[in-house]
Amino acid sequence: MAAVFFDVDGTIVRWRGDYADVLADAFDRAAGTHREAWLERYDERFFAHFGAFADDPYRRAFADVCDEHAVDADPETLAETLVAAEFDAVEPVPGVEAAVDALADRHTLGILTNGVPDVQFGKVAEVGLLDRFDARVASHDPAVEATKPDADIYEAAKSRVDAERYVMVGDDREPDIDGAREHGFETVHVDATAADLSAPDFRTLAVLL
Ligand SMILES: [Mg+2]
Repeated sequence: MAAVFFDVDGTIVRWRGDYADVLADAFDRAAGTHREAWLERYDERFFAHFGAFADDPYRRAFADVCDEHAVDADPETLAETLVAAEFDAVEPVPGVEAAVDALADRHTLGILTNGVPDVQFGKVAEVGLLDRFDARVASHDPAVEATKPDADIYEAAKSRVDAERYVMVGDDREPDIDGAREHGFETVHVDATAADLSAPDFRTLAVLL
């Protein structure tokens, strides 16, 4: 039995369109309109708060934009609207459902993601797959407070499941492959931009079968 952890964005789910349109949609719904400058500033402020592990980086980033650009909207409402818009905008990565079904028969599955727990797990729920993942680890869980490729988040994942071997499946080279290998995981690199899942390397395939 292996513990097989999946990244979320670009691995289990992907955006149907551009993320900028999702953000613009949230401003349109909650503030009645949007400006390019608001979108750019929101992104900057979101990643600043996210990187500092501030609680509720969505609301804080919107509060900054509303202050700086005199946007007449409630940051809390904007944040709730954006998360709802994100849930509306995700679709499963092609092939992931079959892979999850096949692996769930033989292995314990987990989520290992950089992000806010409710948002990351909510996106997986939105595509109907959350109940397949027994171990759920998100960087912005206060009990974790570490993002891939930092050692602590991989150790948090391993502490959740007692397994003979650990596997990481993901689309991003540094957090999902290089970092995971350094911390004791076998790895499978998938490419969400391809029409289907790309083939895992043979070393990993042998581990999984
Ligand atoms: Mg990813």
